[in-house]
Amino acid sequence: MIPFSPPRIDQKIIDEVTDTLKSGWITTGPKTKRFEKKLTGYAGNKATLCTSSGSAGLELMLRWFGVREGDEVIVPAYTYSATANVVEHCGARVQMVDIENDFNISLPAIRNAITEKTKVIIPVDLAGFPCDYNAINALVREEKIRDLFNPATTAQKKLGRILVLADAAHSIGAIYKGKKSGSLTDISVFSFHAVKNLTTAEGGAVCLNLPEPFDHEALYKSLCIKSLHGQTKDALSKSQVGNWRYDVTEAGFKYNMTDIQAAMGLVELERYDEDMIPRRKKIFEIYDRHFSSCPWAEIPVCETAMKRSSFHAYLLRIHGVTEKQRDMIIQSVFEKGVSVNVHFIPLPMLSHYRDQGYDIHGFPVSYDCYSREISLPVYYDLTDEQAALVAETVTGAVEEILP
Ligand SMILES: *Cc1c(COP(=O)(O)O)cnc(C)c1O
Repeated sequence: MIPFSPPRIDQKIIDEVTDTLKSGWITTGPKTKRFEKKLTGYAGNKATLCTSSGSAGLELMLRWFGVREGDEVIVPAYTYSATANVVEHCGARVQMVDIENDFNISLPAIRNAITEKTKVIIPVDLAGFPCDYNAINALVREEKIRDLFNPATTAQKKLGRILVLADAAHSIGAIYKGKKSGSLTDISVFSFHAVKNLTTAEGGAVCLNLPEPFDHEALYKSLCIKSLHGQTKDALSKSQVGNWRYDVTEAGFKYNMTDIQAAMGLVELERYDEDMIPRRKKIFEIYDRHFSSCPWAEIPVCETAMKRSSFHAYLLRIHGVTEKQRDMIIQSVFEKGVSVNVHFIPLPMLSHYRDQGYDIHGFPVSYDCYSREISLPVYYDLTDEQAALVAETVTGAVEEILP
């Protein structure tokens, strides 16, 4: 069986994790701090906070901005449920909007969905392809849109407009107009979950890139406190001589990253651009070459004049299939020994959201993309031969089932 997305675990990762285990310090400490600095240097944003997961990072920043009951947060209908769940945790309303044919949030749909209650927009760089950030950033700065904004908290008053909080769970390493994901808007959140391009088993990072007059050093410090019980000192600084006394200034969260996770992240980041991205790109090219001769195949767009994907997931679509036929193709591919997936089932089709009255009929592009989509395996250790075998297996299954 060809698996879908196993992590890259080699001796370098094992050695670095072992080094942490033997160091006497396994929770947040020097490696987490080093990883944060390296991430900031890599993405080109202003400051970075590592977290226990991408979801924790998204929720932390919604809480920081003061999102609460009565507020609305705009999210695409086509994403993983984490993007919307965190909005509910804060008591706010999830305002779902449709996507474009590139799987990313639709700008006209965002514009239509903005009300005087809108506090945040969460665009998702689906499969690693960056959203159109110049347009989104310009939209929230339009005078009429600013005039609608009702700031209620200190952070909201300071920003004076809707916050753009990018769900960059898939897009570390992606490029938009010469800049890297993490530095494309106000705040971006990476995920380092086991299936993501860069993994720390579980983990995430909040990339801060707010405009003036935000003080990123002060904000970083306050987020360290907010993500660690509201405690004014972390465990490492408390352990220093004469430094035991601490205070708790708020009912904070427990969202910190451990040095075990950061150890993996440091190794992964070091070789990410020269090793991981090119390998993934090569697999995409093998798939592209194979499917370009198949009239039924719609190949995902991963590079344009302005954008380059992080090559996170290969979202193949099939022309002219129904959802049922697509499911049959997936079944056949699995039976032939290849694991595939669907990224993602649109939120309105999941019972938790459907039961609240969200209806997939209001999101026709999301449904169309979902119903014809199959995600193919992409991971570092997938060989060229295996990638060719995946492509042939999918082609065989499609030709068997397509009328
Ligand atoms: C993986 C993922 C997340 C959440 O990441 P975790 O680190 O698992 O919390 C959020 N959004 C999207 C689109 C994801 O794929």
